[in-house]
Amino acid sequence: MITDIIKNKLIEIVGSNYVFQDSETLTEYGKDHTEDFAFPPSILVKPASTEEISKVMKMAFEYQIPVVPIGARTGLSGGILAIHKGIGLSLERLSSIEKIDEQNLQVITQPGVITEVLQQAVAEKGLFYPVDPSSKGSCFIGGNVSENAGGARAVKYGVTKDYVLNLEVVLPNGSIIWTGANTLKNATGYNLTQLMVGSEGTLGIVTKIVLKLIPLSQQNVLMLVPFFDMNQAAEAVAQIFKTGIIPSALEFMERDAIDWTMKFTDVPNLNLKEGIQAHLLIEVDGNYADVLMLEAEKILQVVEQYEIDEVLFADTTDQKNALWKLRRNVAEAVKQNTVYKEEDTVVPRFELPNLLKGIKEIGAKYGFKSICYGHAGDGNLHVNIVKLDMTEENWKTQVPKGIKEIFELTKSLNGTISGEHGIGYVQKEYLPIVFNETELGLMFQIKKVFDPKNIMNPGKIFPSSYQY
Ligand SMILES: Cc1cc2nc3c(=O)[nH]c(=O)nc-3n(C[C@H](O)[C@H](O)[C@H](O)COP(=O)(O)OP(=O)(O)OC[C@H]3O[C@@H](n4cnc5c(N)ncnc54)[C@H](O)[C@@H]3O)c2cc1C
Repeated sequence: MITDIIKNKLIEIVGSNYVFQDSETLTEYGKDHTEDFAFPPSILVKPASTEEISKVMKMAFEYQIPVVPIGARTGLSGGILAIHKGIGLSLERLSSIEKIDEQNLQVITQPGVITEVLQQAVAEKGLFYPVDPSSKGSCFIGGNVSENAGGARAVKYGVTKDYVLNLEVVLPNGSIIWTGANTLKNATGYNLTQLMVGSEGTLGIVTKIVLKLIPLSQQNVLMLVPFFDMNQAAEAVAQIFKTGIIPSALEFMERDAIDWTMKFTDVPNLNLKEGIQAHLLIEVDGNYADVLMLEAEKILQVVEQYEIDEVLFADTTDQKNALWKLRRNVAEAVKQNTVYKEEDTVVPRFELPNLLKGIKEIGAKYGFKSICYGHAGDGNLHVNIVKLDMTEENWKTQVPKGIKEIFELTKSLNGTISGEHGIGYVQKEYLPIVFNETELGLMFQIKKVFDPKNIMNPGKIFPSSYQY
């Protein structure tokens, strides 16, 4: 499909050093963190500017070639997999923070900036970009916009969509647009900015991002609460909010999540007591230590109503970093230990115990083990279904039935099938569980308006029965 004419045109646009067709590079850019899928593009380009991206898209539009936008490839729903081959377009060279606007508390950035790099750059000016995916050390801010990434601090500070004010986007036909204005309020026409957020590279390529910032909190208190009963840990979550306190993070980790992370990654051993089934990792933040201690005490009063072991308070920065490392490395630990599938269920917070209980029952029914962890304060539970010694046959036939039931359960609890990882390639066939034909039809019409030739990351989000 990529003829010499096309290849030469791409070289003309981005330069020969930035067009790749060797199998090593294509294999590398054909994988993300979604299970062990690999769909390499036919050719990879690394443009350096919006203008170059616009020219690549004009050419792709003319020749009707699929284009897959590629961020840092940390995605967990297979968004960058080039399932229809075509051009892989890496955003990694658009890696500048253009302006930190201290007057308006905004940052203007290119999409290929690593999230943590952006956070550190604004923190140096006393500002805070709070969206905090566990992958922040490697994922790109453009990937976060495209997946509407969340993370641990979403419970207090919100997700990516809550910070995006305006976007520069290259459309599938190569036109360059701005979606809104650099203002905190905007009631002007349809909200194209929010339509782009979370659109998973299927409507256009985000080439510049204007984000809202807030003042940086000066202090925090972090505690780890061990529960003897995992259902009680899930129950405690909603009770904590009834005190009127909104923690800046409230994470759930099942025992195995911690055990596996201690075993397979480089984190200190917590010497967990026999019988502990789950932990809550709870953080409060603010500017006044005495207020934070009062809040922590109120939270203690709640959790002490349950069967818990001694609460661990992280006193030093090193201890806090170690606990966060423990939480952030869970996914990696599972991946190193076994074949797995990760589901990103989300329900209203109060339904969390019902979700957890239901997941375990469904696992027992279909014969699989799951390790659950995640952003409990948001009702967002990551369910890692682990293969271990399950037979290939059962893995292929029983697990999909179980996943379908888990998703039906989230829907029945007024939740949905992805809180922050997106639909991408791996969840698309499950979308009719949460949207009816009218709802999905509307979304498909939107896709067609933006992308009449179906060249923009085709084969993602929509079930395969939705054809052009
Ligand atoms: C260990 C680990 C922990 C994680 N923790 C979290 C977490 O806590 N919260 C969370 O929300 N996610 C988490 N993730 C998932 C992942 O990091 C996020 O989805 C992240 O936003 C993806 O960013 P990326 O740059 O890697 O995007 P990629 O994986 O490269 O791409 C993701 C999608 O966005 C599209 N895309 C990328 N850049 C652009 C662009 N500029 N314009 C248009 N489309 C684009 C791609 O086509 C693809 O569909 C985690 C992943 C891992 C591996």
